Amino acid sequence: MPPLYDAHNHLQDDWLAPHLDAVAADLDAVGLRAAVVNGTCEADWPAVAALARRFAWVVPSYGLHPWDAGNRTPDWLATLRTTLAADPHAAVGEIGLDRWILDSAKSDDPRLAGLRRAPLEEQGEVFLKQLALAATENRPVTIHCLQAFGALEGLLRHVNTPARGFLLHAYGGPAEMVAGFAERGAYFSFNGAFLDARHAAKREAFRRVPADRLLVETDAPAMPLPAERVRFTLPPATDGSPINHPANLAATYAGLAELRGVSVEALAAQAQENFARLFGRK
Ligand SMILES: [Zn+2]
Repeated sequence: MPPLYDAHNHLQDDWLAPHLDAVAADLDAVGLRAAVVNGTCEADWPAVAALARRFAWVVPSYGLHPWDAGNRTPDWLATLRTTLAADPHAAVGEIGLDRWILDSAKSDDPRLAGLRRAPLEEQGEVFLKQLALAATENRPVTIHCLQAFGALEGLLRHVNTPARGFLLHAYGGPAEMVAGFAERGAYFSFNGAFLDARHAAKREAFRRVPADRLLVETDAPAMPLPAERVRFTLPPATDGSPINHPANLAATYAGLAELRGVSVEALAAQAQENFARLFGRK
């Protein structure tokens, strides 16, 4: 069985901190070779860097997430440049556009507590500055997009993206837009939460992703798999919300292999090649 690659998680999250040794052992047991650990705000970039020093399999990625764009400091871009300069192999992300926090999220959603929700235009400015940085240095970049695929497509039309491509993580856009994004260099990572019965449209989109643009991710500790797919559990967070164990990556590979009608071995070999091409890590 080829090794597994998590194209997107948040290992630095406080929810995982008390369990890291056990999580690392479980990841080893399922055959993890590398995981892209995405910073989301200035405050968590040092924690991502520390994880990269601690675990050789961590691919550090630094970015300002659209949820955090509204709370950035005046120095954010300078800090990002310095952080990236310290590691020539680091990636950029997670960055992006999110209309859901503006139009659909509840006003008391605990995940958004204390955040100023930046309007889409402001999110776009923050996004484009980071994308330009990635393009100039040809670094891998991870894009988050929720309910803003038309806007994203419009922006990508007018700017440079890294020659090596970019990742649309947990792609939840229309199946019809897959080909256009792929032409612009997109890779698409499949999230285990899409195995839930409600996400038929997202699964359909992943049937259309070209094999050489396919990746697999957990977004752990967020986006838990449907209960019957979960193989690794962690105690819930203090507010009672479930924590997605990063080793559920293996079950996510299995689910995507079923969906694509291929063996897990074949999928894993393809994902290994794709991960190496985009993130530069075998
Ligand atoms: Zn994420």
